Formats: sequence, structure tokens, C-alpha cells
Amino acid sequence: MITDYRQASMKLPPDARFSTICIHAGQTPDPSTGAIITPIFQTSTYVQDELGKHKGFEYARTQNPTRAALEANVAAIEGGNAAFAYASGMAAIGAITTMLKSGDHVVVTDNTYGGTFRLFDKVLTKYKIDFSYVDTSRPDLIEAAMRPATKMLFVETPTNPVLRLTDLSQAAALAHAHGAKLVVDNTFASPAVQRPIEFGADLVVHSTTKYLNGHSDSVGGIVIAVGDEDVEWLRFIQNAAGAILSPFDSWLVLRGTKTLTVRMAQHNTNAMAVAAFLAAHPKVANVIYPGLTNHPQHDLAKRQMRGFGGMLSFDVGTFNAARCVLNRVRLMSLAESLGGVETLISHPATMTHASVPPARRQEIGLTDSLVRISVGIEDPADLIADLEQALS
Ligand SMILES: *Cc1c(COP(=O)(O)O)cnc(C)c1O
Repeated sequence: MITDYRQASMKLPPDARFSTICIHAGQTPDPSTGAIITPIFQTSTYVQDELGKHKGFEYARTQNPTRAALEANVAAIEGGNAAFAYASGMAAIGAITTMLKSGDHVVVTDNTYGGTFRLFDKVLTKYKIDFSYVDTSRPDLIEAAMRPATKMLFVETPTNPVLRLTDLSQAAALAHAHGAKLVVDNTFASPAVQRPIEFGADLVVHSTTKYLNGHSDSVGGIVIAVGDEDVEWLRFIQNAAGAILSPFDSWLVLRGTKTLTVRMAQHNTNAMAVAAFLAAHPKVANVIYPGLTNHPQHDLAKRQMRGFGGMLSFDVGTFNAARCVLNRVRLMSLAESLGGVETLISHPATMTHASVPPARRQEIGLTDSLVRISVGIEDPADLIADLEQALS
């Protein structure tokens, strides 16, 4: 008996709910041993029964059962028709951009991830692909940026680190009215908080490095697609360009998605508690968190997100004050990245966003006194106590 891991989610009831999908979609006991966890198929090739007859697996760049199990799992989690796992979030974004050709135009969220900007600005412009960076929280600015050659609207919501939101239904309607695809980088929210395909997105991309893996021990990326042509192209380019996720990393991310629902619930709860503490603190000038009623898009956050995520930023007035907080925290770790179970604190202006010109940083509210926290799932009282002592 051959088990096709790509078909394994078919045993799930069709009305299975989110946390059940996270744990079971794409998963089936190993047919030779009954192992409940999909094995790490660490092999480069597969023996064929006879000439022209094989089990659906020929060569491991093209097909790997561990990777296929992860792809079926995440496709179901995001509500897409198929998913393709790549060696990093940037490799996944790179795969999407191979749908473009010379002369095409893309509208991009202005405050997009730095690595995405670097790929678009330093690599893809060499192939005569044009990019317009706009504040996609404003539909009028999206509309104004659209051209006949526009093939994609590439959106991040919430953005990093100023947590600006884009209305996904509006973005989908605008993109489709202009014959363009809506691509959503859903890394910051995770599918437990926001499922862009429900709002009309054509493609969703993740750095699995962050919440999907969730344990700060793997780098990877995944693209979830809806349309048949997109699915076929992504399957083709994954094999043709070859930037595949390894079997071991696929296994790690599969382990991560099983606990996505409970992890995100705790990230949401903890971030809300930390945001409320900071908002009431006399030394904190401003807290940016979509869950706070003073967030300019709090109503949109309530409509399109389930919970408000684990990321928040706050302003302590001066660079010196920010440095003090960053150097004095004990439980929180000073580090880039996000989405792991442990709390990370960072200084966007000198760390993740150092390459953004100062004038541009000022424009989007990314001040030198801004501190970002990826709130982990420790006891929130311990996180608040740590900030309390660091701020004093
Ligand atoms: C980290 C990140 C990426 C890039 O992912 P890698 O796995 O580091 O290549 C892309 N988009 C967002 C929003 C990210 O946070």
C-alpha cells in the first residue's frame, strides 16, 4: 500500500475546524510502521519497481513526502488549494515574482519587509520590472498607483514595525478590477489570526521561520495558491529553480503548525496585556498595537483579524531611553526576528530597518525612540515585571 501524503488530508471531515485542521491536515500514520508523526524522508532518490513504474516519487528536489505533508497541511490551514515550501521566506517571495515578466508593474506596501524591498529594488528592477511603493492602508493611493501593466498588488498587513493595516477585501477588489493578483505576506499575523484567502487574496506567502514554525529553530518559506495556473506554475518553479525546504525543516514546521492555535491564542493574550501595561506607563509616549482602541485601524483589525497578534511597538520619547530599556531587559532577548515562543525585543531604526533612509523612517513613524517586541508565550506577569524594571 502506498500512502500519498499529498492526498492525506482527505480523511479529515470536510467541516473540520481550524485547530483540528492544524493538527491533522496532510497527516497520516506512516503506512509501513504506523508512526503517528510523518517521518523525515532523508533521501535523494526513490527506487522504481520496473522501468516506467514508480510510486509517484522519482527525485527528492521534485517530490519529498515530508515536504508534501507540510504543504498539504499549510494549504488547508490557509484555505488554499495547494502550497509549496521553499528554503526561506525570501525564496518563497522570489518564486512568486517568477510569475512576472519584463515590462510588468507591481504595487507594494511602502513599509514592506526590508528583504522584500531589497529583492524588488536591487534584483528584479534589473529585469525591467517596475515597482510602486504606496501606503496600502489608503485605497485611494492603491487606485492611483495602478497602471495597465500592473500585474500584482503585494501587501503586508500588519506592517513591521508600525503595525499599519491594509483592508484585504478592498485590496482584493482593487487588484481584481485592474486584472492584477493580490499577494499577501501573512507572516506577521499568522493564519490563526488572519486568513487572506477568505478576503479574496490569490496568493499568500509566509516566512515559516516566524509563527508557523514558532520555535526559532528553522528558516523556511511557503506559498499558498488558489488558482490552477498559479498552482501549476509554483510546482514547476519549485522544481525548476530548486529552492526547496529540506525534509528536516519541513518536519520542524509540521511540528510547529500542530500548536499554532494555542500558541497564537497565548501570543494574542500576552501582547494585549503588555500593550495595556505600556499604555498606562508614564514613561511611554505611545504604544502601537492593533488591539488597543486608540489604534487608528482598530475597527478594521476587529473585522479582519481574530485576535490582534503578538507584535507591538512603543515609543519611549528619546533614543537614549530606548537604549536603556533594550539594555536593561533580562527575560526578553535583544534580537531580530519574531514569532517564536520566547519574547524578543529590538530597535527597528538601528537593527531591522537600518537600511531605510532616515527621512523615509520619519515619514512612516519609525522613530529612533521606537522599540519593537515580539511577545512570546511566557507568563505575561513575568514579561510585565521585566519591562517594569527596565523602564524604571
Ligand atoms: C522574515 C520575513 C520575511 C523573510 O523570511 P526569511 O525566512 O527570513 O527569508 C518576509 N516577510 C516578512 C514579513 C518577514 O517577517
